[in-house]
Amino acid sequence: MTDRDGRRQRLVDRLAGREKIADVRVLDAMASVPRHAFVPVHERPDAYADRPLPIGEGQTISAPHMVAIMADLLELRPDDRVLEIGTGCGYHAGVTAEIVGAENVLSVEYHEKLAEEARERLGDLGYEGVSVRAGDGKEGWSDHAPYDRAYLTCAAPEFPDAVVEQVRPGGLLVAPIGTGRQTLVRARKRADGELDRERHGGVRFVRLR
Ligand code: SAH
Repeated sequence: MTDRDGRRQRLVDRLAGREKIADVRVLDAMASVPRHAFVPVHERPDAYADRPLPIGEGQTISAPHMVAIMADLLELRPDDRVLEIGTGCGYHAGVTAEIVGAENVLSVEYHEKLAEEARERLGDLGYEGVSVRAGDGKEGWSDHAPYDRAYLTCAAPEFPDAVVEQVRPGGLLVAPIGTGRQTLVRARKRADGELDRERHGGVRFVRLR
């Protein structure tokens, strides 16, 4: 076991312990994805600390516990088709891909440069099935709808209408919601198209553009 493997495993143990992540699929995914390979070289020593890190363009990769909590709330299952808004460096997409299968992850990133780099990085690391589109996530990605699950990795005033539309009835959405203070919200889409919302505590994410 390398030093990095050891640090990654200790991080996963903390997620299971302190953060009470119970879903084994999520813990296994967190243990599998090499977070250090997604962050800039000079940030790699801190890759298995449980905190956000800068990834360029003024953006950050979320803390590992936040990625794990969101995956847990989404109740991801193999073969679920998942829409991600905010690819960033691609790490969170990699975690989702471990659970649902890379070909079921469709991700939209606003910054063209980040999208391009994430696509290449995901490919290099064996997640070439993940699809990344540069564009505005508020529009979702209708070509691949309907989705079983959708999540935002940037804070929005509300779940974007197009994203809600592209999730199937019974599907789940998770996002940081709020313009000032943000709350992590999980919503289930009802048959009539309305959302049933649950609040899951205060969070801090970069903003949706
Ligand atoms: N999940 C990412 C975290 C990215 S931070 C990771 O694992 O690294 C949030 C990302 O959302 C940033 O990369 C930002 O550029 C992107 N973003 C902001 N507004 C957006 C929009 N309207 N559409 C798509 N992506 C957006």
